[in-house]
Amino acid sequence: MPIAGSGIVKMLPGRKPCKDCGFPTCFAFAMKLASGGVTVDKCPYLSEEVKDKLLDALAPPIKLVTVGSGENAVKIGNEEVVYRHEKTFVHSPAITLRISDKEDNARVEEKIKKIKELQFPWVGVNLKADLLALHFESGNKDRFLALTKKVNDATDVGVVLISEDMDALFAARDICADRHPLIYPITKENIEEALPRIKANLTPVGLRGKNIEELIPLTTRLKDAGIEELVLDPGSKNVLEGIRDQTFIRRAALKQGFRPLGYPTIAFPCFLAKDGLKEMIAGSAFINKWASIIVFSDFDQYSLLPLLVHRLNIYTDPRFPMAVEEKYYEVGEPDESSPVLVTSNWALTYFLVSSAVEATKVPAYICVKEAEGLGVLTAWAAGKFSGDSVGTFVKKCGIEDKVKHRKIIIPGKVARIKGELEDALDLKWEVIIGPRETTGIGAFLPGFAKQLKG
Ligand code: SF4
Repeated sequence: MPIAGSGIVKMLPGRKPCKDCGFPTCFAFAMKLASGGVTVDKCPYLSEEVKDKLLDALAPPIKLVTVGSGENAVKIGNEEVVYRHEKTFVHSPAITLRISDKEDNARVEEKIKKIKELQFPWVGVNLKADLLALHFESGNKDRFLALTKKVNDATDVGVVLISEDMDALFAARDICADRHPLIYPITKENIEEALPRIKANLTPVGLRGKNIEELIPLTTRLKDAGIEELVLDPGSKNVLEGIRDQTFIRRAALKQGFRPLGYPTIAFPCFLAKDGLKEMIAGSAFINKWASIIVFSDFDQYSLLPLLVHRLNIYTDPRFPMAVEEKYYEVGEPDESSPVLVTSNWALTYFLVSSAVEATKVPAYICVKEAEGLGVLTAWAAGKFSGDSVGTFVKKCGIEDKVKHRKIIIPGKVARIKGELEDALDLKWEVIIGPRETTGIGAFLPGFAKQLKG
């Protein structure tokens, strides 16, 4: 929370509760405003000056920036805590694949294919890289613009445009402006020349300083010009400096409330590390310490997947267990006489059960009941996996239309819900007590499936 309600109330007019904002007192309005539940304009008695002050004070300490558009838009920033255990990190860093315009056509095609096809279904989410960074290195502007056009035509992903040549940078920006690209680098040397061109077709701006101090007048200058979608590169020369700089920026924004550094950041393992493995290690460190866009020179499925899983783990809200959606899932191609199992929605439980079922090669339905992400036994103990609640879920989930038989397998650990569940299912289903552990599914399921077909 950027400012507390007690701080806001001092800025309010304090008219004897006129209640025109819909709240009984100014204090109640202030508290709601601080929690984001109401907007400043609901109090009609604020001067423009106070309104601006409040909007500034209420803005998140790290600005939200969007790169890309549509369903591939990547949001970065808006973070509120330095450490994950304090609350949660909000927007995970964008894993970005760099394409140089010096690379040959086959290599470009290969990288475009990677960004489109390297996707991994994982614990109910789809893991993938997020952005392409197009790098002008050839010295041939036409070649860079051709690369930009090619990528723009071939994919929907957002792009980071990297060019020291301002003409090439802004010409490329104009090719894909509707994709809301990040243009980089704007520096102390080129900012005055770049400013009118940035304003002509506004997209996010990547600022590069030789050090952190050099970024401060740049962000101030652009903010004064009304440009606030900024991404910071402190010009770190190696990974150690990179981690130090990212830490400094993060702490300045969140602990000191220092607005000129309250923007997401970009890091370049592709330039800082000497080989592919070191690049991945550096990237992993930048996921921990707090880069918002991380640019790699290359990856394959073997290096990308661990990186994405690492990112998922860091950016999963520690207050909530990983859970899968409540519904029935199909394993293989089940039909009307396939077995039906029921379990809770803790992601690990679901994946253990589904993997065990898959290993038997018996097509089956797994009904996953919402249980706040708890394992079966814990969910039962917490009252989230009672016979009544499982019965209600089974009736509404649609499984009754998928199978002709009426036999449902419950985990052996919650055998005690059998009677209650049969009652909840109006005695139309026979509840079968399955194995206590998923390791028992292999011995149990094939024989049971045979009986059903029988
Ligand atoms: S409208 Fe403004 S002055 Fe009136 S009670 Fe609400 S916050 Fe206070």
